[in-house]
Amino acid sequence: MEKYEVVEENVGYGRFAMVKLMRHRETKHLVAVKFIPRDHMINEKVAREIINHRSLRHPNIVQFIEVALTPTHLAIVMEYAAGGELFYEVLNVGTMTEDRARYFFQQLIAGVSYCHDMEICHRDLKLENTLLDGSPANRLKICDFGYSKSYLLHSRTHSMVGTPAYIAPEILSGKEYDGKLADVWSCGVILYTMLVGTLPFEDKADRQNLRKIVQRVSVVQYEFPDNVLCEDSKNLISRIFVANPAKRITMKEIKSHPWFLKKLPEELREEAHYIYYNEENTKHCLQSIEEIMNIVNEAKTTPVASSPNL
Ligand code: ADP
Repeated sequence: MEKYEVVEENVGYGRFAMVKLMRHRETKHLVAVKFIPRDHMINEKVAREIINHRSLRHPNIVQFIEVALTPTHLAIVMEYAAGGELFYEVLNVGTMTEDRARYFFQQLIAGVSYCHDMEICHRDLKLENTLLDGSPANRLKICDFGYSKSYLLHSRTHSMVGTPAYIAPEILSGKEYDGKLADVWSCGVILYTMLVGTLPFEDKADRQNLRKIVQRVSVVQYEFPDNVLCEDSKNLISRIFVANPAKRITMKEIKSHPWFLKKLPEELREEAHYIYYNEENTKHCLQSIEEIMNIVNEAKTTPVASSPNL
């Protein structure tokens, strides 16, 4: 980690990690570094997060750069998204215009759809894991592959992971589910929240009540406020919020829905995305999977300490 210096101590706190803004001493490139304590926290889940993240390279996904060790932490170095969480955008502006929400949603779908094509489902899509790059184009970047699963490398999906307000009903059942269709549901929650300004399955009078959220999700209980949304956006949302995943709109169908297609920027058209499917696309990585696994395994074996020692 010596090649990086700290610029800002805390640009984000997650469930398990702390994220710092750092700068490469020579190139001066800014990076975000996620620090995970070197103890029992370093497990299969962390290895999976890194290996899955490493395999992706797309403009709407925070770019993985490398992993490193400090005496106390495992550090995941990645592209820095300077614009903060989409969550704050919603918090600050309340509701967005349909055009603005559509612009973010189109990018979200481009990123998630690419993950799915690479046989990876994210499983924790939410406004807090959807960052903005802070450029004039306001590019959206998906982060946190902590719950991601690869269909090629890992076992079937049945574990109950994610965040209650964004979780699909089939996950609540505890049975095996299709992670890609569960991601579609979470994208619907993000879309609804951008357009309406509140989470769809939250009880407005009792926001923190998880039991109520879970209950409402399981019976797909949500409402559209009067005269706020156009028919096309309501149609898209209601086709996402379908309890039976087999009847839910698919990623492919979302991409041909009239609301999605409206004002679709040139760079988000399917044709413009072929370059990311080229095998060469992920050969940019500084570290091989073997090197990464060695670092992760080494991180498991070192004594615990309390703060990142750079
Ligand atoms: P955890 O897996 O512990 O939940 P996350 O990966 O979600 O941690 O990161 C926590 C928070 O840190 C994010 O919600 C975001 O605000 C911030 N963050 C994460 N990655 C980046 C990044 N690449 N650029 C800027 N901020 C980031």
